[in-house]
Amino acid sequence: MKNSKTCPKCAGKKLWIIDPLQTVYEYAPGTLPLHLAYKQKTGDTGWLDSKTARVGHLVAWICAGCGFSELWASDLDQLEPDPAAGIRLVDGSQGPAKGYR
Ligand SMILES: [Zn+2]
Repeated sequence: MKNSKTCPKCAGKKLWIIDPLQTVYEYAPGTLPLHLAYKQKTGDTGWLDSKTARVGHLVAWICAGCGFSELWASDLDQLEPDPAAGIRLVDGSQGPAKGYR
């Protein structure tokens, strides 16, 4: 849909783009962007700085006609596998895929 500018389900051409995709914050007015992961910052951080950085964000393409949605992620080169956090890479480029169960 992002590339064709046409919905693959209904051929609609009216598309919403939500960039970045956000969630409504439940306890106060406003919204929160959805990030892919946390990453530990390296080097010296100031005492008020967070020790983690947010990695990536999502962009939603949504067909105005039928609601079919696509998600596109940014900053994938900064992701690192972290199975404990639910972040796994399935790589089938060198033979049978590993890392998927
Ligand atoms: Zn559609």
